[in-house]
Order: sequence, then structure tokens, then C-alpha cells
Amino acid sequence: MSTSFRFKSVEEAASRKAVNVALPKERPEAYYGCQVFNRQKMFEYLPKETFDALASAIDNKEPLPRAVADSVAQGMKRWAIDNGARHYTHWFHPLTDGTAEKHDAFVDHDGKGGVIETFTGKLLVQQEPDASSFPNGGIRNTFEARGYSAWDISSPAFIIDGTLCIPTIFISYTGESLDYKTPLLRALNSVDKAGARVARFFDPEVKHVNSFLGWEQEYFLVDEALYAARPDLVMTGRTLMGHESAKNQQLEDHYFGAIPSRVEAFMLDLELECHKLGIPAKTRHNEVAPNQFELAPIYEETNLANDHNLLLMSLMTEVARRHNFRVLLHEKPFGGVNGSGKHNNWSLGTDRGKLLFAPGKTHEDNLQFITFVANVMAAVHTHNALLKASIITAGNAHRLGANEAPPAIISMFLGSQLSDILDRIEKAGDADIDLGSKEEMKLDVAQIPEILLDNTDRNRTSPFAFTGNRFEFRAVGSSANCASAMIALNAAVADQLNRFADAVEKAMSAGVSLHRALLSEIKKLVVASKAIHFDGNGYSEQWKKEAAARGLDVESSAPLMYDAYLRPESIDMFARTGVFSKLELEARNEVKWEMYTKKVQIEARVLGDLAINHILPAATRYQSVLLDNVFKIKQLFTADKAGHISAQDLLSIEQMAEHMAIIRAEVDKMVDARRKANRIASEREKAIAYHDTVVPCMETLRYHIDKLELMVDNEIWPLPKYRELLFIR
Ligand code: ADP
Ligand code: MG
Repeated sequence: MSTSFRFKSVEEAASRKAVNVALPKERPEAYYGCQVFNRQKMFEYLPKETFDALASAIDNKEPLPRAVADSVAQGMKRWAIDNGARHYTHWFHPLTDGTAEKHDAFVDHDGKGGVIETFTGKLLVQQEPDASSFPNGGIRNTFEARGYSAWDISSPAFIIDGTLCIPTIFISYTGESLDYKTPLLRALNSVDKAGARVARFFDPEVKHVNSFLGWEQEYFLVDEALYAARPDLVMTGRTLMGHESAKNQQLEDHYFGAIPSRVEAFMLDLELECHKLGIPAKTRHNEVAPNQFELAPIYEETNLANDHNLLLMSLMTEVARRHNFRVLLHEKPFGGVNGSGKHNNWSLGTDRGKLLFAPGKTHEDNLQFITFVANVMAAVHTHNALLKASIITAGNAHRLGANEAPPAIISMFLGSQLSDILDRIEKAGDADIDLGSKEEMKLDVAQIPEILLDNTDRNRTSPFAFTGNRFEFRAVGSSANCASAMIALNAAVADQLNRFADAVEKAMSAGVSLHRALLSEIKKLVVASKAIHFDGNGYSEQWKKEAAARGLDVESSAPLMYDAYLRPESIDMFARTGVFSKLELEARNEVKWEMYTKKVQIEARVLGDLAINHILPAATRYQSVLLDNVFKIKQLFTADKAGHISAQDLLSIEQMAEHMAIIRAEVDKMVDARRKANRIASEREKAIAYHDTVVPCMETLRYHIDKLELMVDNEIWPLPKYRELLFIR
């Protein structure tokens, strides 16, 4: 620890200039997707029959015959080698953060002492990575040590850093999912089937319903020299201490301000890389907090959109380094400053080109719109605790419930117009619903004002908001794999749509007309799920009370939130939709609790180390400077005068001593709490112990360290401060 390091890092950061980005000469359409084995490349590199068979398997969501796989592998390999690839990998999404890959070269023995470049259908379609190092919640122990990765043909292969990446699912020998992609594909399949069932009430030609996702990725950038001088950032992705700087976001000037040139260069570079990989990056802007930014693409089919988000997160990390930045994807890198989320804009649409959450011009369209909205309401209401469990992590727990992010309660914002319509449906008597012909509709669903389409009635405090033609699930964390939220949401909605279709079909078989059956089922849903609808201020204390009274889930402890996955209604819902078996849910919860514990454990260790080895020594040094001063004053002045002159120093010495004593004691207490928690065998109980006994120590420690930061000589303070970390010139 040296004071000069801190100032050197600040100096280094302040002196940096924007890195030059070499812009391609061509327009984006020339290089867009050049690193992706997309339809155009398939057409170019595959024999006609192979291309047709592959395209048809993708479009009809059917498995690919093995014979075709061999031919695809040949074409894909040729394309990859033509584009500089030397290795290939099965790219999958284990239950840890991020993605995993194991690279193999395209070479094999040629039988004559040399090598040839090979890649067979077998290698393309299925592999057996060493699964033992990935979390599995005990599934592999119970069954079989092997895990398989298998090609997901719905997501195209791509080349990154000379490696052909093949998107794959990752499952155990007995078929249990060990990843995020498998259950996501299952959930998308179930919402496709259920959605199409309901959509066919309105258009019998509908074959498929697709789920769409447009994520908005928030992130922070920090200069790499400052980052390197903060062990907490390096090891945990967030600052575990740091007093708010005099200026942070009070003026909200960052949001509207110009993007600093260094950041602009980074963004440009990142967008180029995105476009080459076929990620349709579109929007970029400053966010509310200083150094916070956002990137959003054009929305895509959910599975592809999620692959693209995972790819983006690793791209960002890589590109940032070229610009001497580090990307912080943590949900709460800085205390007292806005956290980062990843809004998930989500919608359903038919293969006939209709978005199902968009009001239309005709009565039919609007009845369909209301049908789907009411079903989403019911699903979100029934499964509000589960949806919250799907987005909670140790990191996101810092963001939810704080006064700047979605509260730790799931509710739904609908806006005044949609609320009015639902109100009318709710109040409509049987006579209104008992309508023979469409023209006589008294509910006026046909008259949904077009203004709804650009719904400006935005409520930023709502975790799940209707925004004109989609829902925006805002509680998702910035570092999360969106699949977790998308699995729960799509499965819950699929299950609800199936019940709805059952009820409507039953009524119709008893002689009720389709319209009457639809309206009466919609009314039931609207009445039953009213409690989820809340357009007020989600940040208010009063809402917490009201939400509890309404029967919504108000649990605020992350480890306890995960219990929602194992409630009978969740287990049944996931079983009916074929998304998770009970065994899978149990195994995954083990992993969630374990991950929670590990995150807090690492943070607690780092904080303890910083407190004892960085903060206390610095404070002691400054304290002795003050003590020395007091001694000298006493020697020079009469007792009377000396007492007067050194009063402030004495007070500081005393206050510092108090903070230091508390820090020492609290570190001991924290170590003890950890030791006790570590002895607990159950992952759930252990996570609860970490939450209840370790986290509070960390909060106390931070409070006292931040107080010391205000007192200790700036020259001696060993870490870059918020005012340095948070501003890029
Ligand atoms: P805002 O910040 O105002 O919420 P942005 O433009 O940053 O809006 O992001 C909106 C995101 O929503 C984009 O990714 C956009 O493509 C996506 N989106 C728009 N329409 C839909 C839709 N029907 N389904 C899913 N995502 C959508
Ligand atoms: Mg948004």
C-alpha cells in the first residue's frame, strides 16, 4: 500500500485520450452478420437438399436428421475456415454467470503421420464436455457424471476470435437441464403451443406464437488504472466501501449530457463488433448515474435475443479493455448511486405477423389484445413470487427495494387507458357480456385509443409495465442471464393460456358463443388478478403495506425468495408446461443458494481484508499525526491555551478511535458469523445465515469505514474515492 499509487492511478486515468477506432469503409449492411453462419451463408455453403432440410427443421422447430447434420458440418466447417477459424467450441450457458466453452482444433490424425482438418456431424450435434466443474445442484451425483451439450439449431453459429462457436444446450445423461438454454427452449415451446391455441380463436391460420425479447443493458465504465487500485472492484465487481462524492447524480446532468469522447469511441467499437456478430445494437445513451450507460438492440426472438445478450456481455468486457476501461455489470457497483438493471421488453407475436399485446384497429384485434393482456395479468398475479425469485441474486438484492429501482414486490403497471378498459370489463353485467353480434359490443373494446400505441404514461417505479405493445420487466439485474426471467414468465403465461383455452373450449362445447365465452373468461381473470395491478408509486412505504394486504409477495430476503420455486403451484406449473421437473427445480435451488452464499462470502472476506490491512493502518497513521501534533502543542503552549488549540484534534482522535474499535470488533464478529454459517450443511440454511448474520456486519463495517474516509487525510487514504472513480473526463 502506498499513497503514491493512488495518485498515480488518478493521474493516469485523467490523462487518457480517446482511442482511435478504425471505421470500416463499407456501410453496415456490407459487414452486418459477417461472423455469423446465417441463412445466406447456409445457402452459399450447403448443398441445396441440406439447406432445405436445415431451414425446414429450424422453421418448423423439428429435430435435424443425423445424415443432414454431417452435411451441415462440412459446409459450416468450410465457411468457418474460409473466415479464419481454426477451432470450434460448443458454446453453452451453465448455471454460473456468463457462458462456457471448450475449444477444440479442427485437426485430427490423417493416418499417415500428419493431420487433416475435420469436423463431423457428430461433433457438430453432440459433445461431452467435462461437466464436473459446472454447478448442478447434485443432479450429476445422483445420476451420472456425464453431461452432454447438443446443438441448438434455432440459434446460428458464429465466429469469435478465430473460434467457431456453436450454441448448445447442456444436459445430464438422464436429460435434466444443467444450463439456462434448455429450460428456456422448453418454455418458449410451451408458450408457442399455448399461445397458438388461444390465437387461433381469432385467426385459425396461426401455427406458431413466438416470444420476443428486447433487452436494455445498463453498465458502468471505470478507468482501468482506478479499477486496479480498488481490490473490491477487482474481486467482487462492486465497491464495498466509499463515501458518496459531493457531486454525484443530484443534478441529473449526466443523463442528458454529452457522452465523453473516450466512452463514445468505446461505444462505436462495441457497436461495430456487435453488428459483425449480427447483434442489432441500436440505441446507446447515458444513464442516470455518472459513468453509467445503456445499450439496446432491436428486439428479436427470445432465444436468439438472449444468446445475443450473453455474447454482448462478453464482448463489452473485451472491447472495454482496448479502451482502457473496465465494464461493471454488477447491479450495484456504487452505494448511494443508481444501480444497473436490464429491462426485458417482452412480447408475443403470431407467425402471421401480429403482435399480441398491441391494440389494433378492429374489434377482433382488440378483443385478442385484451385476451392476451388479461392472461398475462393472471399469470403475473398467480406467479408474482416466482417472477421475483427468477430475478433475485446476491447482486440484484442491493438494487431491488432501494429507492431507485423496482421495489422488491412484483406488480403490474397498465396505464390509465388500459386500466379504464379493464374497469369496464370488470363492471360489465351479464347483459353486456351476453352479446350476440360484434356490432352491439357495449364494452367499446374496439375503441381503444390509438394513443395507447405510444404510451407516454410511463411509470418508472413499476417492475412490470405495459408500454404500448409489450411489457417491460424491469426487475432483471444487469449481470443476469435473461433466460431466468424469460423461463418463468413464458412458462407462467403458457400455463395460464392453456387454462384459458380449456375454459373457453369447455364453454363453447356447452353451446356458448366464442365471443361470450372469451369475454366471460376475460372478466373472471380481470376480477381474480386485480391485486397485481398497481399504477401508483412503487417506491413508497405505503405501497409495501398495501401490497402485503393485497396478498402479494413482500419477502425481502433473497434466500427465502427462492422458496417460491418449490411451492406446489410452481412445481405443478413447471410440470404441466414441461419446463422443469421437481428434481430440476430442487437441484437448481441448491445452486442458487450456493451461489448466494459464495458471493457474500467472497465480499465479506475482501471487506475484512481491506478493513484490517488497508483502512485501519491508514487511519492509525493519520491518528498518530494528530497525536503528534497535540503533543507538540502541549509542549509549546500553556496548558490553558494548548487545551483550546488542540480541542478539535483531540475530538477527531477520539472519534477515529471509536470508529476503529467498532471496525475491529465488527470484523471479528463477521468472521465468527461466517465460521458458524460455514458449518451448516443445508445450502438453504447456510444462505439464510449469510443473509441474516454476515450481511448486516458488512453494512456496519461500511458505515464506519465511510466515516473514516471523511476524516482521514486525503493523501493517506489508500483507495480511489467515488469522486475519482465516477467521473470520466
Ligand atoms: P426505453 O428506454 O424508452 O424503454 P429503448 O428504446 O431503450 O426504450 O428500448 C426499448 C427496447 O424494447 C428495444 O430493445 C426495442 O427493440 C424493444 N421493443 C420494442 N418493441 C418490442 C416488442 N414488441 N417486443 C419486445 N421488445 C420490443
Ligand atoms: Mg426502458
